[in-house]
Amino acid sequence: IWQKILEIIAQKVGESTFQLWFSPVKLLEIKNSKAFIEVPNRFFKDWIEDNFPSIISDAFYQITGNQISVCYIITGKEHETVSTEEKKPVIKRGNLNPKYTFNTFVVGPSNQFAHAAALRVAENPGFAYNPLFIYGGVGLGKTHLITAIGNYILDKKPGINVCYMSSEQFTGEFVSAIRHEKMPEFRQKYRALDVFIVDDIQFIAGKDSTQEEFFHTFNELYSKQKQIVISSDRPPMEISDITDRLRSRFGMGLIADIQPPEIETRLAILYKKAELEGVQLPEEVAYFIASRVKSNVRELEGSLIKLCAYISITKTPITMDLAKHVLRDLLPDENKPITIDLIQKAVCEALGIKLHDIKSKKRTKEIANARKIAMYITKKLTNLSLAEIGNAFGGKDHATVIYACKQIEKDKKQDESLNKLIDSIIRKLQENK
Ligand code: ADP
Ligand code: MG
Repeated sequence: IWQKILEIIAQKVGESTFQLWFSPVKLLEIKNSKAFIEVPNRFFKDWIEDNFPSIISDAFYQITGNQISVCYIITGKEHETVSTEEKKPVIKRGNLNPKYTFNTFVVGPSNQFAHAAALRVAENPGFAYNPLFIYGGVGLGKTHLITAIGNYILDKKPGINVCYMSSEQFTGEFVSAIRHEKMPEFRQKYRALDVFIVDDIQFIAGKDSTQEEFFHTFNELYSKQKQIVISSDRPPMEISDITDRLRSRFGMGLIADIQPPEIETRLAILYKKAELEGVQLPEEVAYFIASRVKSNVRELEGSLIKLCAYISITKTPITMDLAKHVLRDLLPDENKPITIDLIQKAVCEALGIKLHDIKSKKRTKEIANARKIAMYITKKLTNLSLAEIGNAFGGKDHATVIYACKQIEKDKKQDESLNKLIDSIIRKLQENK
């Protein structure tokens, strides 16, 4: 069974990631629907949990049809068990990731405004800027920065009632409160907060009753001068499908953006992370990584972590040759094709849609529209057949793909903004090759 599970995981994560991270992982036993998984050290556990939180239990489910939870056993440390369940109480320290603090946040021109605003809010919750609305692209440090606000406030005043959550968690709890007739408790919980930090608010788009509820929570907290902090991947004006009254609330305090970091900031982030990992990063190698990973700090960090893992296993120092070998996917490759995956990602990012939604059969307006745009671009940039394209988008048939392409072709002629959007996505894809 473990063999099969590993095969599924290998398919999902790709060969090199699999070799590095999953090949040393073993199944010890399954007991009371818990799978005890052995990993070489804590690093592995953290990495797997951060990057593929449910990949093992999903694979179990796929094969056995049973839900299991995963307990990691770390070999190095005399069978210390770390259960994923015990680790996540519902709201512990306001649900804040303790790793994300101001101390570990590197400030540069691209983020200094957002950083300064966040710090002021942290020092003076409720009275500096309310709400504080931070927006910026994927992996640029929004979650880190807004979490740092919460951590800072809690460090100063441990008793204060801070809550961090994503807008999807909010939606989830709201729906569950309705289903279980627990609305009074739900309202009481959120309206009694001192600091409410809501991540990725863009996912509230299109969900009318959640928006309504959030609106009332917002008003109640705001009128009591309780601090509200919101993040989004785009400014309020560009979040489609939210009510105007909510949109205007978002702009009542301060709106600050985070831009992709300049090369100096990217280098500084790498050195900072290397220091936190306790590794010596040669300048040449830092430069190699920073000059190739440009628009996403998460990927920057990912490259370094991969390198650290490699040297922790092989016990060799970091050299340029080693870096080139381990990070060979960062090397420019002239023949690298634009794949359907890349296109789907780019379209989702531009439109604020979830990757798995675009590949699903869901038919809400935005998702269907994003799917059509992505199909059109795929048809244009790849040699895939209509059937292959349809297949990658929730198993649509070739007629649907033809229809989508025709329609986008037509809409493009009448809609200048759509035209621009598609052009910019295509340009980005071609530049990132
Ligand atoms: P976002 O929420 O904008 O998608 P995150 O806050 O999750 O991005 O950041 C992605 C990763 O990059 C995190 O691990 C975070 O610690 C790191 N990161 C981003 N910006 C910085 C920065 N300025 N200094 C240090 N680490 C950063
Ligand atoms: Mg985030």
